[in-house]
Amino acid sequence: PPGRIEIITGPMFSGKSEELIRRLKRARIARQRVACYKPDIDLRYHRTAIASHSSHTHDASTVTTVEDLRAVLFPQLDQVEVIGIDEVQFFSEAVIPLAVELVHLGKRVVMAGLDTTFAAEPFGPVPNLMAIADEVTKLSAVCMVCGAPAIHTQRLGQSQELVVVGATGFYEARCRAHFHPWVDEL
Ligand code: ADP
Repeated sequence: PPGRIEIITGPMFSGKSEELIRRLKRARIARQRVACYKPDIDLRYHRTAIASHSSHTHDASTVTTVEDLRAVLFPQLDQVEVIGIDEVQFFSEAVIPLAVELVHLGKRVVMAGLDTTFAAEPFGPVPNLMAIADEVTKLSAVCMVCGAPAIHTQRLGQSQELVVVGATGFYEARCRAHFHPWVDEL
């Protein structure tokens, strides 16, 4: 079967995890075997599953690096048809050649991740993954100020660290008009 690279992207709360979970569940209904991974930086809710903000879940293995992912995946690769990766923005650029290798082996690779940081800058490998994908799905969230479609992730409060994972309340989805690349009042 021909391989395929699918990217699901957009800001926080846009339904990326939900959409990834939906696609993986449908693959399993089609009797395809699925392996799902996420970086261990995302401690939201589960260590052994991916979870959406609306509490849908799918089993997943936590891996630290792309090399770690490869080491876990390749021994069982002939028993896997579909590979899901959530929070792919936290992996290094090495995830790009891995995805290309997998697609040439006939695998379907479905990856979800943020396209931009809270500073509205390209986030990790995601923009380059979008460039090489067969299909890109860019989702929007709902602006927490006005209800318009939101493409940005607004950080609230004072932290300047790139990664403050998971917690609702530290981030909001915002439209262009209500997004400030500096931190907003909590
Ligand atoms: P992502 O993976 O993109 O962060 P999730 O799939 O985890 O998104 O969560 C999407 C769900 O979050 C929506 O179905 C909805 O229930 C909830 N949600 C909370 N705040 C918002 C918002 N501002 N816009 C859209 N959905 C929101």
